[in-house]
Parts: sequence; C-alpha cells; structure tokens
Amino acid sequence: MAQPNERATHWLSQAGLRPTRQRLALANLLVGDGQHRHVTAESLFDSARDRGAAVSLATVYNTLRAFCDAGLLQEVTVDGSKSYFDTNTHDHPHFYWEDDGQLSDAPAEQLVITQLPDAPDGAEIASVDVVIRLRRRA
Ligand SMILES: [Zn+2]
Repeated sequence: MAQPNERATHWLSQAGLRPTRQRLALANLLVGDGQHRHVTAESLFDSARDRGAAVSLATVYNTLRAFCDAGLLQEVTVDGSKSYFDTNTHDHPHFYWEDDGQLSDAPAEQLVITQLPDAPDGAEIASVDVVIRLRRRA
C-alpha cells in the first residue's frame, strides 16, 4: 500500500511537476488516499487550512490551474462560472446536487449518447460534458 506522501509525489512527478512543499500539501489532499474527488478552490483551501497548511486561496487556485494544465485534473464548469476540479481525468458524466452544490460521479455505463448535433461549419466538437442536475425529493 502506497503511503499518502509517496502517492502524491508520484502523482506530481508523472506529470513532470516538481514536488514543492505547497504542491505536495495540496496533492496529498487531492490524491493522498487514492480516492477520486471533486473540489473547488474554496473547498480545497478550507481542507488545507484545517490541516494547518499555510496557503492562500490564490495559491490554491493557481496550483489547481497548474495541475489542470499538466493533465492531472479535469475542470468541470457548472452554471458557467463555478469550477470544480476532478482527479478523475477520464470522460465521465456528473451529478450536480443543486441543494448543496456538490459534484459527484454518475455511472458512466448507464449513459448512452446516440447522436450529437453537427458542429457548425468550420468547427469541430472538442468535448461533451454531461452534468445531470439533481434536487432532493421533498
Ligand atoms: Zn468526476
């Protein structure tokens, strides 16, 4: 069983990122337990603070961006403005819980897309994001 720090170091190095102390602290929160998770800059900032890490929200945000650029995270945008960062970088659908603003994975094997609209002239489809919005039954 890999130790959290080992896993985080490996995660960074496979993307060619130097394991600075701040990157390592955030990587540990993201992948240290080997589970996939969805975070916002704010939620990761809160977790880092809880663990006593001395990081600013701006650093968390910039580090998440760097992890995205390195292909370690996938960004999922909800409502056109709210960004979630997903440690699972494979294509998969999401549930968005409207009540508490949480994002979670939806079962990919149950999703069937049989046809997409043609892209307009001079354009090609870059990606398809599936976000299924949920609200709890009253
Ligand atoms: Zn996901």
